[in-house]
Amino acid sequence: MAGIYIHIPFCKQACHYCDFHFSTSLKLKEPLLLALHQEIASRKDELSMDPIETIYFGGGTPSILEIDEIKKILELVYMHYQVVDEVEITLESNPDDLSPKKIKGLRTSMINRFSIGVQSFFEEDLQYMNRVHSVSEAERSVKSVQDAGFENITIDLIYGTPTLSKEHWEENLRKTISLEVPHVSCYALTVEENTPLEHLIRRKKLPLVEDAQVADHFLMLVEQLIPVGFEQYEISNFSKPGYRSRHNTAYWSGKAYLGFGPGAHSFNGKDQRRWNLSNNALYVQKTAAKETYWDQEILTEKDRYNEFIMTQIRLQEGISLDLVERKFGQSYKQHLLNGLEGFSKDAYTLLDNKMVLTIQGKLISDRLASDLFF
Ligand code: SF4
Repeated sequence: MAGIYIHIPFCKQACHYCDFHFSTSLKLKEPLLLALHQEIASRKDELSMDPIETIYFGGGTPSILEIDEIKKILELVYMHYQVVDEVEITLESNPDDLSPKKIKGLRTSMINRFSIGVQSFFEEDLQYMNRVHSVSEAERSVKSVQDAGFENITIDLIYGTPTLSKEHWEENLRKTISLEVPHVSCYALTVEENTPLEHLIRRKKLPLVEDAQVADHFLMLVEQLIPVGFEQYEISNFSKPGYRSRHNTAYWSGKAYLGFGPGAHSFNGKDQRRWNLSNNALYVQKTAAKETYWDQEILTEKDRYNEFIMTQIRLQEGISLDLVERKFGQSYKQHLLNGLEGFSKDAYTLLDNKMVLTIQGKLISDRLASDLFF
């Protein structure tokens, strides 16, 4: 089984914190979609007929596309790949795009999962992040998608924003619970290099993101979502039973996927990663000229071990020491055990040959993972 990721590199407005690949100009939309169609058709033999079980429209803002444009992409995927009947097809969407008319149109497409970028139910946070939508659009969009009969919905929230008090974060979580969505992804606001957010903070135009606040919000998140039936199956992802993201779960379990569109990454399920140029004009130009529009790397055993640690440590099931030994050998397992000795026993449990992070460990998961790298 394999997955397909489709990157739609357009947004109406640049969020201050964003370091994804996108353009706010739609000038190249038509030629870019043609290039995307060409890429979908031309790579049909790469998965050696592995059936496709998940398709994910990410971005950028895929909901910026017209219904017919989404349908055309899916038609091509179905034409060139073998897609399973019970496929999961996710559309990342921004609330301002989800008008009742658009949702009605999407009902006639094969999209069966929505990921809605709510981020916060408070205007001051949306303004801090420079999100294009309003609070009322956020609430209305979730309800409209539900009213149209879609059940498999996830919303994204961001915490740690300096404008987000503890009370407001609690209210965001309460509101999320009351909306009865079966999946929530919550990310700590991070200040990436060369983003407008970094620039504005450096020039003291916006307040700093404080680590202590991020940690407080994370603890509140877990305290509020777990008792109402969500499982934290990955550090940033919470689902009701049966609603884990199949697409992301496949990523984390090392399955193969093809990424189409500028900036999209692909993995062959073994040792090869490939990524398309993060430049819309060049992607269009090189695809049309049948020139190479990607770069690639072959992963060493050490790279594969490090990636394994980086993803598995974030999962509810944790890192299986038996699996580490089977995949990489005894010396890697020993390296992992040695690395763990540097951490307090409050950070993880080691039971039945599985290392699982505690809530304290989740707060320092990045540092823990990098200390276990080979
Ligand atoms: S909508 Fe998403 S991709 Fe676009 S700028 Fe905002 S965070 Fe980045």
